[in-house]
Amino acid sequence: MADPQAAFLDAVRIGYPALTLGSFLFLLVWEGDRRSGFVPRRARHVLRNLALFAVMVVVADGLVGGVVLGIGRHLFDVPRGLLTPLELPLAAMVVAGVFATDFASYAFHRLSHRWRELWLFHAVHHSDPQLDATTGLRFHPIDMAFYVASVAGTLVALGIPLWVEGVRALILNPLSMAQHANVPWPAWVERYFAWLLVTPAMHRVHHDADAPGIDANFGQVFSLWDRLFGTYRAPGAADPPRIGVPALAADEWQTLSGLLLTPWRARSLEI
Ligand SMILES: [Zn+2]
Repeated sequence: MADPQAAFLDAVRIGYPALTLGSFLFLLVWEGDRRSGFVPRRARHVLRNLALFAVMVVVADGLVGGVVLGIGRHLFDVPRGLLTPLELPLAAMVVAGVFATDFASYAFHRLSHRWRELWLFHAVHHSDPQLDATTGLRFHPIDMAFYVASVAGTLVALGIPLWVEGVRALILNPLSMAQHANVPWPAWVERYFAWLLVTPAMHRVHHDADAPGIDANFGQVFSLWDRLFGTYRAPGAADPPRIGVPALAADEWQTLSGLLLTPWRARSLEI
């Protein structure tokens, strides 16, 4: 009889990179179809965002999540927390964990726009002047380290084991890449999924350089939180006219070192 913990770990270890890489390649080919005239510029954009993603995985997931917080060592511990007295069955605990961490990510994302110290890190995601699938992986390592800590802290506070985040993590990269991809999604994607999920059109509103777009649609997986807390903004027929953070659009901000140093170099700018 296989050990269920080991089987779960194997599924995440294989599923996470396979789903991330599979969706990346699928979207890259689909996007390439549309933009064959800009191959060198697009390749540079993709490589820079992927390089930042690699640094982020090492720092946020490896160093902070793995070494500092010890998430790997405590993955299957069952902490005592707010939900412990309810003695929830496993399925209910997974559902509660998935919704609670998605709410935590919504709340942390809103805070990242409200509090300048966090915004300087989160601005690295918004400063992408052109959205494509790799924008969905482009986060400053410190932005993501805070995010990992807030999600882990939410689960521990509720008394839900950390492995539950592994379930959500499987779909996070593919969903995030799909939300940012520069591809013509068929109309049924919005029609059938917008009631439940943060769709590409809904998330692209959030990449507006200006209010009210950038102050709306903070959700990560479920569209519920924006509707519930009054930050939902329905997408228009086209993308917002200005995408990104105009003050950080120049090439010097888009190199790997430019992206990593943005939170410090942009401190004196009005962004
Ligand atoms: Zn944001």
